[in-house]
Amino acid sequence: MKFEIITIFPEFFSSIFENGILRRALAEGLVTVAVHDLRAFTHDRHRTVDDRPFGGGEGMVLKPEPLAEALAALGIASKAERQTPSRAKAPAENIGFDVGAEAPTYQPRPQVVLLSAQGRPFTQTMARELASEERVLLICGRYEGVDERINQLYCDQELSIGDYVLSGGELAAAVVVDATMRLLPGVLGNEASSEFESFGVADAEITTAEDGVPRSQHGSGGLLDYPHYTRPAEFGGLRVPETLLNGDHAGIRRWRREQQLRKTLANRPDLLAGAALSKEDEKLLEAIRGVIEPSY
Ligand code: SAH
Repeated sequence: MKFEIITIFPEFFSSIFENGILRRALAEGLVTVAVHDLRAFTHDRHRTVDDRPFGGGEGMVLKPEPLAEALAALGIASKAERQTPSRAKAPAENIGFDVGAEAPTYQPRPQVVLLSAQGRPFTQTMARELASEERVLLICGRYEGVDERINQLYCDQELSIGDYVLSGGELAAAVVVDATMRLLPGVLGNEASSEFESFGVADAEITTAEDGVPRSQHGSGGLLDYPHYTRPAEFGGLRVPETLLNGDHAGIRRWRREQQLRKTLANRPDLLAGAALSKEDEKLLEAIRGVIEPSY
């Protein structure tokens, strides 16, 4: 999978992908990230990328021309051209070329994403969808944002990483790349581990066996993760829950499921409506609801 990022601050990304899982994924060639400097697509002495907003008001807006030029250089046609089969040429010409490549190389159909506070909220489900794409291009806004015609002409989707305003799309792009690429096959050590964490999908089967004990291979089913503990068994006057120490695997699975339900109810009750819950989960939830109230 290939990510391409268009930004006025390419150096922002220099340290971001140099650690941990992402660094390994890049080193192993499971994913590639190319960062492109928007200013390379300007033609004036000041390398101008912004201009004043029509209609007045605060701040500056990223001009459409350098962005359109950058997209063209990356072989990204407008949405209309990408979506109209009758106008399609041979794949290499139609879909683009690697910049600087000697011979035209086939590029898969790109997914063009505009990072924007006005976008649809980015979720784990969207990260899973993006992980199935071969080529994702991320456009980072700055100032008051990007001239809307770039969105209309080129972008398949507008994504927001949360209900707050950042000063630029770079952090958001890094979030999208990180969350997406750890879902690619081979990136996480254990293939299944992304299923077991917060927001993981449920198994196709019901997540709880008939005896009420969750299966060892059940996904989190849209709930938050359970709390994790490591050594020492006692710290700061707090002891690790006894169940986790006694080696009863069915008991541990039951405890973890209950903790998932508790955390989700306390911190994100909105997730319960869309979660895959077994009858046993529902019973546990009723019991928990009698004891604690959601925090909002
Ligand atoms: N005027 C805009 C904010 C512009 S912030 C508004 O009120 O919606 C500048 C840039 O930061 C945006 O163009 C976008 O690329 C990025 N950005 C800001 N908040 C974001 C968020 N929550 N998610 C993704 N990108 C964001």
